[in-house]
Amino acid sequence: MSAAAQKFPCPGCGSPLEVRAAGRTQSVACGYCGAVADAQDPAHKLLSKYASAVRYEPLIPLGTRGVLRGEKWECIGYMRRAVRYYGVDYEWGEYLLHNPLKGFRWLVEADGHWTFYETLTEGPQGAPK
Ligand SMILES: [Zn+2]
Repeated sequence: MSAAAQKFPCPGCGSPLEVRAAGRTQSVACGYCGAVADAQDPAHKLLSKYASAVRYEPLIPLGTRGVLRGEKWECIGYMRRAVRYYGVDYEWGEYLLHNPLKGFRWLVEADGHWTFYETLTEGPQGAPK
């Protein structure tokens, strides 16, 4: 599934980085130093450096492949998200899954609860405008 994978050294620390879904990936974050590199620039220029000392280790390592709901998926991305709502902080993790034939899906984990999402490109029929 990773036929489109592309590797290059991190512009921040030189560690090997891998672009999964090459051509459709805009940036890659380094798991070692936190630098974010431009995946579409041939020189893979440095876009930003990680500003926080807080690090999260994804429960599903990037590059992991598995079957979910009868389809093969590769975990190609992870982001940690948070929101403060009425003074209470909520955090969750979102995993980007890819299958070259099926496209992209999100697997979201919050407090041990997992949810599988498919992004819609248009609203459901009959939805209010
Ligand atoms: Zn790095």
